[in-house]
Amino acid sequence: MYKLRKQQTLGDVLEKMMSFPVLKIEITVPIEEAYGYYLAEDIVSDSDVPSFDRSPYDGFAVRSEDCMHADSQAPVILMVVDKIGAENICNLQIKQCEAVRIMTGAKIPDGCDAIIKIESTRVFEENGNSYIEIRKSLKPGQNISFQGEDLKQGEKLLCVGSRITTGAVALLATFGYSEIKVYKKPVVGIVATGSELLEITEKLQAGKIRNSNSYMIGAEVIKCGAIARHYGIAQDTKEEIKSVVSKMMNEVDLVITTGGVSVGDFDYVPEVFEELGAEVLCNKIDIRPGSVTTIAHVNERGGKILIGLSGNPSASFVGAVLFAAPLIKKMLGNRQPFLKQVRAVLRENINKIDPITKLVRGVIWEEDCKLHVKPTGLDKSGAVSSIAYATALIILPPQTTGYVVGDVVDILLLESVEGSENFGHTVCGI
Ligand code: AMP
Ligand code: MG
Repeated sequence: MYKLRKQQTLGDVLEKMMSFPVLKIEITVPIEEAYGYYLAEDIVSDSDVPSFDRSPYDGFAVRSEDCMHADSQAPVILMVVDKIGAENICNLQIKQCEAVRIMTGAKIPDGCDAIIKIESTRVFEENGNSYIEIRKSLKPGQNISFQGEDLKQGEKLLCVGSRITTGAVALLATFGYSEIKVYKKPVVGIVATGSELLEITEKLQAGKIRNSNSYMIGAEVIKCGAIARHYGIAQDTKEEIKSVVSKMMNEVDLVITTGGVSVGDFDYVPEVFEELGAEVLCNKIDIRPGSVTTIAHVNERGGKILIGLSGNPSASFVGAVLFAAPLIKKMLGNRQPFLKQVRAVLRENINKIDPITKLVRGVIWEEDCKLHVKPTGLDKSGAVSSIAYATALIILPPQTTGYVVGDVVDILLLESVEGSENFGHTVCGI
């Protein structure tokens, strides 16, 4: 039987785990596929945006000095001497009492310093010439999109480690990036260990359960932005587990197992990690659920990290979001790998007996501009219902006993507030 190590604090484990060297591989992707990757290069603007003074409206380019005193009592008449679309340039030098009909995005003609919208003018023809009447005054620079007002040349726009969002793609396209240097998405191998496990397509049998953990972890891997590769189910024999973990170590960037990390007679995972040359960092952490999460590191085979999650679904879930996710995000080049911690008002009493940190699966919602939270249900590490509705983990620190309605608690955000809709109308009591 494997002997549990000395209990370590969550903070210590995270710090040591995140100091493991991870391979971040730079690749180049076409802009069409760049969404969701993390930048491996800083993006600096190589020109002003806009790169010339331009019109934000369909209207007329004018000299403000001609219109400075225009009002309904003293309208100003200007002659329209040219007409330009967004793709054209006016080659004339605009003189006193002249105007140019201009479309949105076109360059401001020389001599003009203001734009008046079409709907603010009266357009008329006389003797074959076109004129506008203006009944309101204009100031220099009025209604002009100035060169560099959006972005200046030489500005750092996005840093290494920034996520490529929809808006970031627009920026990259603006500066002509058809290909972008990003970090490769790590391939994360997942195997479920346990002789009691059935494939999810199998019929339930007495004493057996379906393997839900592999798919849950796979979903978390995808959520982080990486690629999940499934290695099925390994029976509880040392040989079978060793063989599949060894194969995974050769084929994937990060190895995740579930089950078999505790002190049961068939819990071989930590032992297997060691026999495959890995150094076990921890297998007893001061949190519940997830205390038996086993994290190991091996220098061989290009340096690999192995994470042994508990088999209990809630514990496996907590281990996946607390330990596997930040490591995956680090491999992806994400500069903010940890769950966001915020505060919320507790809306249901919670009793706490354990002297260690408890992470209670909770559901969040917004009310009166504040976040509110309450547990999602059965608070046992084997529960699957409580994770299905969880949009946050409520942190109950060690040495605390209980919390009551109205207490402000720290929470780790798992999903956005909208995710709480899974929990139905019971959340807000509507
Ligand atoms: P273990 O960590 O192997 O001791 O398993 C603890 C509990 O989690 C047992 O009740 C298992 O049946 C259950 N379990 C183990 N692996 C899985 C899995 N892949 N999916 C769902 N439940 C599991
Ligand atoms: Mg087991």
